[in-house]
Order: sequence, then C-alpha cells, then structure tokens
Amino acid sequence: MDAAPEDGRKGLHVITWGCQMNVYDSARMADVLRPLGYRPVDTPDAADMVILNTCHIRDRAAEKVFSELGRLRVVKDARAIEGRRTVLAVAGCVAQAEGKEILARAPFVDIVLGPQTYHRLPEMVARASRAAGAVIDTDFPAEQKFDFLPDTQARQTPGGITSFLTIQEGCDKFCSFCVVPYTRGAEASRAVASVLAEARRMVDAGAREITLLGQNVNAYHGAAPDGRVWGLARLAEALSAIPGLARIRYTTSHPRDMDEALIAAHRDLPALMPFLHLPVQSGSDRILDAMNRGHTAGQYLELVHRLREARPDIALSSDFIVGHPGETDADFEATMQLIRDVGFAQAFSFKYSPRPGTPAAGAALQVAEPVKDARLQALQALLRTQQDAFNDATVGRALPVLFTGRGRKPGQLSGRSPYLQAVHVDGPDTLIGQVTDVEIAERLTNSLSGTLVQERAFA
Ligand code: SAM
Ligand code: SF4
Repeated sequence: MDAAPEDGRKGLHVITWGCQMNVYDSARMADVLRPLGYRPVDTPDAADMVILNTCHIRDRAAEKVFSELGRLRVVKDARAIEGRRTVLAVAGCVAQAEGKEILARAPFVDIVLGPQTYHRLPEMVARASRAAGAVIDTDFPAEQKFDFLPDTQARQTPGGITSFLTIQEGCDKFCSFCVVPYTRGAEASRAVASVLAEARRMVDAGAREITLLGQNVNAYHGAAPDGRVWGLARLAEALSAIPGLARIRYTTSHPRDMDEALIAAHRDLPALMPFLHLPVQSGSDRILDAMNRGHTAGQYLELVHRLREARPDIALSSDFIVGHPGETDADFEATMQLIRDVGFAQAFSFKYSPRPGTPAAGAALQVAEPVKDARLQALQALLRTQQDAFNDATVGRALPVLFTGRGRKPGQLSGRSPYLQAVHVDGPDTLIGQVTDVEIAERLTNSLSGTLVQERAFA
C-alpha cells in the first residue's frame, strides 16, 4: 500500500475507462482538485478521493462500474474504521446515463457527475462534505467547462512529447447504435484562441506532437479572433505555425465532415500526419442507412480516393461494427469487400452491443451472438493481414520517427512513425523529443525495429 501524501495534502486516485477524451478529462479533473490539496496516488487505499471515470460505449459498462464500486466500498469501509474518510465519485458517460441507478444501487457513492460538469468538482466536494446524502450533477450546462479549467502551467499532468488536446465535444448525428449524443450532449467546439493558447503551453512544456480530440473532431467549428468561425483545416494551419510543434493529428473523424479544405490540408501542411482514423462501421448501404450514417459505401470509397489523391502516402484506419440489427451474410460480405477495396493500415472492430435508449437496441432482427462472433473473427483476420502487409511494406524504408522515451531494453529508444507505428532503435537519450530518420529493418508483432540513419552514415 503506498502512503498518503504528507503535509495535510490529500490523495486522489482516478480510474479511467474508455477513450482518449476520458484520459484527457481525468487529467483535467485532477487539475481542478489540485487547489484543494489533492495529489495523485497509485492505489485507492491511499486515496482520500477516488474517481471512476466511466465509459458507456459498449458491453456491460454499468456492470463493470458496479463491480469496481463493490471493491471500493471495502476500501472505503476499511479506511473509515481507521477514521479516514474517502470521497467516492462516479464520473463520465455511465454517470450521465445511469446516475440515479448508481445512487440507488450504491448509496455509499458521494458524488455523481457527467462529462460536462467536472469543472464544478470542487464545489461538489464541498457540498458532499456538508450534505448528508450524495451530490449529483449531470447537467448539460450552458457554460463551457473549458473556460473554467486551470491552464496548462497549473496542471499536475502536463502531458508529454505526445499530448492530447480536446477541441470538440458531443455529437448531433444520432447513429442508431450510439449513446454519445445522449451522454455527451450536442456538438460544441472550443474557441480558437483557447485551443491555440493550450497548444502553445503544451509545446512550451515539451510537446512535439499534439492529437486534437473530439467525438466528431472534424465537425469542429470554433469562434476565431477574426470574428469568423474556423473549421478544422484552418485550425490545423494555425497550429502548424507554432514553433516546435512537429506533428499534428486529430481523431475521431466522421466521413460526412471530411470537407475539401481538410483534404487539401493533408496535401499542404507537412505537420499534419499522413494517418487518418476514419470510421466507416459497415460496407453495406442498407446497414449504413439503418445506422443513420448519412453516406453510402461508394461515397466512402470516393472520399478515400480524394484523400489519396491529395496525400498519396496517407494511411487509413477505421472502426467497424459487426452484427448491427438486420445485418445479413450479404451485408457482412459487403463490409469485407470494402475492407479489401480500401486496404487499412490499422482498425478497431466490435460486435454490436445494444445500448439502452438507442434506436437500434429496440430494433427487430437482432443478430445472434455466435453469428456476431464468427463475423468478428473473419473481419479481424482480414484486417490483421492488411495491417501486417502495411507494416511489412515499411521494411527497408527510412521513416521519420518521433522519439518519445526509452524502450524496454537497455540503450533502446521508442518512438512512433508518421503512420502511428511503434518503432524501436538503439540510440542515445538525447534523441528523445526529436524527429530522426530510422531505416526500418524488421516488423515485429506490434512494432517495427530499425537503425538510426545518421548513425549508419557515420559508422
Ligand atoms: N464519432 C465516431 C464516428 O462516428 O465514427 C465514433 C465515436 S464512438 C465513441 C467509437 C466507436 O465505438 C464507433 O466508431 C463504433 O465503431 C463503436 N461503437 C459505438 N457504439 C457501439 C455499439 N453500440 N456497439 C458496438 N460498437 C459501438
Ligand atoms: Fe456516435 Fe460517432 Fe455516430 Fe456521433 S457520429 S452518434 S459519436 S458513432
């Protein structure tokens, strides 16, 4: 068990599930609690406050939360016997969707807060210490939480060489299967000045690569100092002018929001990495329509074509769902065909999981679990072959690698290629934070290994 911080400081333990946006949110919750004396600790036993930052996107999300809460209750009770109080908070999308249910089933929880209200955490902590019952705040407030967060300098989690920056939240698209519009609310974009200021501070703190985050990041439309509304392409252009910022990425994009300006930005901005996560979900027009995705398979292929024309070396990644209600063998085959037609460098794939309150959950023609299993296996096998082929094709090439830290073996450095591949080489620590050419020698299961081009030149 690690010790609680000394000097009257309090321990904070945050458990995070789900996407990078939740990782970003967890770090910001730690920031807003810092002025109250909270500092991160590694285990719940040492924590005066434990936050579960939850994800509701798939599977038995709520059940996972309740079983973790069961474990935390034991810790809370044990600490109480020693006269130490533990504030237990449930945050994120499960809290938003099932806040009342959480308090009914786990009355020992002190605070329930949604993803839009964590800037109000200090106030909630104060109320929780006064109130007899729990505090619940799952509003969608009019004010933007970003305007109430401490700036990067005041952060205990400064980020690193590769940093994440949330610029957009929420979604208005209401895909049949997805809870995001209900848990994260309507689309909202941060103001340009606030994004640029945070990016500059990240770079000052050592960031060389920034990944812009949003549920629909390319739907970004932020108010700019010139009185206009900027899209993602214009924002990326302004970011690429920040000295010291070598690489820009963004995720997750929706095909419908991939406009001409953004496609052109991939051609024109060297800092914009040639790797794009562009979920398609299915290759069947019938299922895409049932999913309410707003585009056909043909339109997706056309988009890929335009992207490759603009930036021939662009690598693509995607999300796929198998077994959406109504998906037949022919629909599934159409998805497999789309995968063969595109050739993905990487992808995430999931079995459809009914989410309470979404249209697809109540739809007829749910697909049987064994059918979903078989389709997922076949799809993942094809995607794996494509990923291996993509990685194999880099062997023998020189790739610019951003080194992010030491590797596992002594003398080894680890970094990433423009295509988000993990790369290992032997090299000096002085290269950490630098972009250097590496000749790729070998593909390993989930990474590449190579040699420094400069070193070879001097050898
Ligand atoms: N906004 C992004 C888009 O439209 O592509 C996706 C964001 S969502 C948080 C991440 C991924 O989770 C989706 O692309 C989808 O593949 C998957 N997902 C969402 N709901 C799901 C569900 N009910 N069952 C299985 N997978 C789901
Ligand atoms: Fe969910 Fe993405 Fe569809 Fe929005 S666009 S509803 S976040 S899958």
